[in-house]
Amino acid sequence: PGAAPDCDVLVIGGGPGGYSAAFRAADLGQRVILVEREPTLGGVCLNVGCIPSKALLHVAAIKEEAERLADHGVAFDTPTLDLDKLRNFKAGVVSKLTDGLKGMARLRKVEVVRGTATFADANAVDVALSDGASRRIVFAKAIVAAGSVPVRLPFLPDDPRIVDSTGALELPFIPERMLVIGGGIIGLEMATVYSALGARVDVVEQLDRLLPDVDRDVVEIWRKRNAHRFDAMLLGARVESVVAETDGLAVTTSGEGAGVRRYDLILQAAGRRPAAEALQLAAAGVTLDARGFIEVDAQMRTRNQNVFAVGDVTGNPMLAHKAVHQGHVAAEAATGLKSFMDAKIVPSVAYTDPEIAWVGVTEDAAKAAGRAIEVGKFPWAASGRAIANGADYGLTKLVFDKETHRIIGGAIVGPSAGDMVGEICLAIEMGADAVDIGKTIHPHPTLGETIGMAAEVAEGVCTDLP
Ligand code: FAD
Repeated sequence: PGAAPDCDVLVIGGGPGGYSAAFRAADLGQRVILVEREPTLGGVCLNVGCIPSKALLHVAAIKEEAERLADHGVAFDTPTLDLDKLRNFKAGVVSKLTDGLKGMARLRKVEVVRGTATFADANAVDVALSDGASRRIVFAKAIVAAGSVPVRLPFLPDDPRIVDSTGALELPFIPERMLVIGGGIIGLEMATVYSALGARVDVVEQLDRLLPDVDRDVVEIWRKRNAHRFDAMLLGARVESVVAETDGLAVTTSGEGAGVRRYDLILQAAGRRPAAEALQLAAAGVTLDARGFIEVDAQMRTRNQNVFAVGDVTGNPMLAHKAVHQGHVAAEAATGLKSFMDAKIVPSVAYTDPEIAWVGVTEDAAKAAGRAIEVGKFPWAASGRAIANGADYGLTKLVFDKETHRIIGGAIVGPSAGDMVGEICLAIEMGADAVDIGKTIHPHPTLGETIGMAAEVAEGVCTDLP
C-alpha cells in the first residue's frame, strides 16, 4: 500500500504458465511486467524440457523406424551419429521457439525484466537484476509461475557422470551402459533417446510398476515393445549407494534384482519439486501446503487476494498444458473476469516409442474404487492403418460410466497416441457417450478410427475382434 504500482500485473517466471498469463493479461489491456532469471523465455518446457526432449525423441524414432524398414524391404546403411549436429538441431528448435516468445512479448508491450524476484511485502517484489543491480517493482496483482526443479537424491556423489534431465538433454556423450533412476515419463523418454543412440540402459523404479497412473494392460504392451532396450528393468527396487570410480559408477541396489552394477552415466529422474522457497512468499502472506506447493483456489488465487500462482509451483500433474490453462485463468481473474479452473481432465503423454497417452479415469482405478464402468478395447491388430504402419501391437481403450454410458477416461498405446488423445479429451469435456463417439464418422484408414471402434466395442456393437 502507498506507492503507485509500476504495473497492473507482475508475472514471476517466463515458462508456459508465466508467458501464457503475461500474454493473456496484456491482451486484456493490462500493463504487464514479466520477471525471468534465465536469459531466454520459455521456462523448463522450451529450454530444458518438453521441446528439446521431443526434438531428440523425433530423431530417435526415425532412426529406429529406418532400421525396422529392413523387414519391409528397404535397408539403409548403418547410421552414423554426429553428436554435434544433433545438439545443434536441438538447440535450433529451442531457439526458434524462445525467439518467437521474445517477439510475442515485444508485440504485446510486455516488459521483460531479467533477474530473480523475491517478495518484499504484499504488494512489491525486489528483483536482483542479472547486471548486478536491484529493482523494486510495486504491483497491483502478481502471478507466480516459478515452476519446478529436479529432486536431487542426497546420497549421490558429485560427479559429472551423474546428471538430471537438463544434463542428459545436453547429450554429453553416449555411454555404453546407462542407469535411469525413476520409471516415470521423463526417465522413460530419456531412456528411449539414449538407447536409440546406442546405449544399453537399465531402469530402477521403487514402485512395482512403470507409469503407475496407467492401466497395467496398456503399460504391458509398451514394456514388451521396449524389452530390447533394457538389460535390467528393476521394479520394486531402490538405489542404495553409488561409488564414483575412475572406470565407472558402481551402483548398489536393493529389492528386485539386488546387486552391484557398473555404469558410465546415471540419469536421476526421481521427481521434481516446486521452486517456491527462494521467493520468500511468507513476506506476501502466500502459504504453501505440506509438500511445498503454493496453495490456490479455483481462480488460482493464493491467500493474498492480489497474488495468484500457476503451473508446476502449484502441484501435480507438472505438465506444460496445465500450466498454460492455469495461466489464462489467473490472468483473466486478475483482470476481474469470472474465470475458473474447471477443466474436467488433464491428459498425459509419454512420448516414447511407442507413445502412451492417457486421460481421466483408468479401468484399474475405477475397479479399485468399486465404480461401475464399461470398457471398450480396440486392439490395433484389427486396424488396417496400424497393420500397414507396422503398429499392429497398439491398443485403444476407452472407459465409460456404466449407468450414463458417458466417457470418463481413455488410454492409447502406439505411434501418435499423443496426437490422438485430444479427441478423447474433447469427448470427456463435452460429456459424450459411447454412441456419440461410435457414430462419429472417422476418416479411413487412420489410427484415429480405433477410438470410434473402441466405443462400439463398449456398446457391444463390434464383437468380432482378434
Ligand atoms: P517452468 O517451465 O519451470 O518455468 C518457471 C520459470 O520461472 C523458469 O524459467 C525459472 O527460471 C523462472 N523462475 C523461477 N523462480 C524465479 C524467480 N524467483 N525470479 C525469476 N524467475 C524465476 N510437460 C509437458 O506437458 N509435456 C512434455 O512433453 C514435457 N516434457 C518434459 C521433459 C522434461 C525433461 C522435463 C524436465 C519436463 C517436461 N515437462 C513436460 C514438464 C514441463 O516442462 C513443465 O510442466 C512446465 O515447464 C511448467 O511450466 P511452469 O510455467 O509452471 O514452470
